[in-house]
Amino acid sequence: MEFEGQVALVTGASRGIGRAIALRLAEAGCDIALNYRSSTAEAEDVAERIAALGRNVELLPGDVARPEVARQLAEAACEKLGRIDILVNNAGIGRDKLLLAMDADDIQEVIATNLVGPMFLTQAVALTMVKRRSGRIVNISSTAASRPGKGQANYAASKGGLEAFTKAMAVELGSRGILVNAVAPGIIKTDLTQALRNAAESELLGRQVVNSFAEPEAVADAVAYLASPRNTYTTGTVLAVDGGLKMV
Ligand code: NAP
Repeated sequence: MEFEGQVALVTGASRGIGRAIALRLAEAGCDIALNYRSSTAEAEDVAERIAALGRNVELLPGDVARPEVARQLAEAACEKLGRIDILVNNAGIGRDKLLLAMDADDIQEVIATNLVGPMFLTQAVALTMVKRRSGRIVNISSTAASRPGKGQANYAASKGGLEAFTKAMAVELGSRGILVNAVAPGIIKTDLTQALRNAAESELLGRQVVNSFAEPEAVADAVAYLASPRNTYTTGTVLAVDGGLKMV
């Protein structure tokens, strides 16, 4: 119960990796402010599981790509659960296609959701953490930030920016007791990668060291360490959870 008495705000926690992170933290004692965009039934299912663990949980729907939502989420989490000890910027989207085929929305919505949203949310939440001189922020990046595939210009730029932002925040917030890190997943079994895995499973596995794709819980474990009180000295890093993707 290493998160007993703590509160985490997890974005995009109705499905996939965010769901696994919320459940992992709750299993270890954390109360959860659970953000999602539109999958209400899925979010309610996650909330029921968290409540069954004996934890407090608040559903906070909202589109993180909208600037005003960040402050609303931070305020609602603090009002309903008391404070925010941990922020996990997980919500993310992909719109893979070649740059020459992208329209303005393909570029702007991916950057707004994956990069600008986490920046506004960090601004809103760090304000409350600075006052308490303690906090943990974990941003969910991607292997695409450092080793993008074809058709990932918008996504790779958003995640590369997120990794740079992670380091910038580690520098700004470290003296206030706030550690800021990123986790860069490879190919995880979620809705986001279903089509890709269906289309090219053996080719993708051939480019990994580990011969299988990971469950979302593998990412959740890495997040749980970086967000935990056990982490006292790691900040500004990007932890790859990718089975050695593109090393072979
Ligand atoms: P997913 O299964 O598609 O789930 C995405 C989650 O984000 C959902 O809960 C969704 O909510 C939420 N979301 C999307 N846009 C949002 C918005 N504008 N505001 C609030 N919530 C929003 O995706 P995933 O695979 O779990 O991915 C989670 C994170 O990991 C993303 O940042 C992704 O880039 C990153 N990642 C994933 C992989 C992978 O292999 N799966 C690899 C590298 C990085 P609704 O259901 O309500 O729409």
